[in-house]
Amino acid sequence: MFGTFGRFGTFGRFGLFDVGGITLSTELAYLDDPFCFEFDAEISARVTLPDGRAGVVLPKTLFFPTGGGQEHDTGTLGDARVSDVLIDDAGVVVHVVDRAISDARVRATIDRARRFAFMQHHSAQHLLSQAILDALGIESVSANINIDNPSTIDLVCGDTDLTPGENLANALIYEDRPIKAYFISDAQIATVPFRVPPKVAGRIRVVEIEGFDYSACGGTHCTRTGQIGVVKIVKTERRAEKLRVHFLAGQRALEYFQNVHAVAAQLARQFDTSYDALGEAIARQRDALRAAQKEIEALKAERLTFEAERLIANARACGSVKLIAASFRDRAPQELRALALLLQNAPGVVALLVSYDGAKLSLAVACANETGVSANDLLRQQLAEIGGRGGGDAKLAQGGGAASEAQFAGWIARAEENVVACFAKK
Ligand SMILES: [Zn+2]
Repeated sequence: MFGTFGRFGTFGRFGLFDVGGITLSTELAYLDDPFCFEFDAEISARVTLPDGRAGVVLPKTLFFPTGGGQEHDTGTLGDARVSDVLIDDAGVVVHVVDRAISDARVRATIDRARRFAFMQHHSAQHLLSQAILDALGIESVSANINIDNPSTIDLVCGDTDLTPGENLANALIYEDRPIKAYFISDAQIATVPFRVPPKVAGRIRVVEIEGFDYSACGGTHCTRTGQIGVVKIVKTERRAEKLRVHFLAGQRALEYFQNVHAVAAQLARQFDTSYDALGEAIARQRDALRAAQKEIEALKAERLTFEAERLIANARACGSVKLIAASFRDRAPQELRALALLLQNAPGVVALLVSYDGAKLSLAVACANETGVSANDLLRQQLAEIGGRGGGDAKLAQGGGAASEAQFAGWIARAEENVVACFAKK
């Protein structure tokens, strides 16, 4: 699928093949034998890419160059590591190497596991696209072959259960159908039932999953569907009007299953159940947690009531007013507020509550109606010391600001006097 092989710019444009006007092109031997991973390579040219990387050209290569949605092979040429492989418009393949190769002939090896993973995923992509079309009538509009992350296919459809397509693709894998590759001329396009009609001229390479899928493609493929092993959709996500399907094949699908199974087995052990009963066990745990949280909230509210009563009992009498100045560490502002709310309705109470978390000072001020003291005024006066911010009304005000440990300690030392002083002004 996705056009014939590599058409990704011409290195010649950058003067890459300025080698005496000789036209170089490379025989793409991987097209005939995708399972050959070693060969004797002849170095026909040494080049420097526009980005400064060194490369070599061979008259014939088994290295797949990036193109058609599939990434390049890696491997070795003699002692040199091949880290990238590119093809230009003239069909010349450049092998990017990490060191100079002085020999005219070297032994070449292709990283087998990487290449085979690409073959499994590329063949799986053709198979799954056709299977989704057959089973659900949904066309694939683009694809990306990846082996480090799941490969993807984009479908033009809404959220859809793709299981029938996935099942059909795997049924074709069990059948172990041949996957054939052959060339036709553009005049023969009408004779092949392409899934997506090719928009190219000249020779067209057809990759056929026998009697099932016909794609114009220059990629490396398995030679039988059984070599794909398995294809598994692992995620779907909405992308505007498209549905992006993430899938794994072969070894990567097995590794995914092994990981998911290990996690499920570990969770099942922790819940002391079997993995198929995990859903129920987690739902029970969640319900128990919610009930416990509710109980904690109720107990916290009860504790705050007791705390408010204790603060009122220990308040400093100042005429008809009961003064409270209390400091805490690491209490959330909303908890200070809840306590202040309880105190604001106690007759005659003026309360200043402060908490410090090591960086920020939080204040809550509560003033009962008949005290004649404004909670908002008292708060602003206290915040002025640390340049903090906040506000409220006459009964309840809250705020805070950054403060040092020394500022907090100083505030505690003066707290009660601060309130007394404020009250004395009234
Ligand atoms: Zn393809």
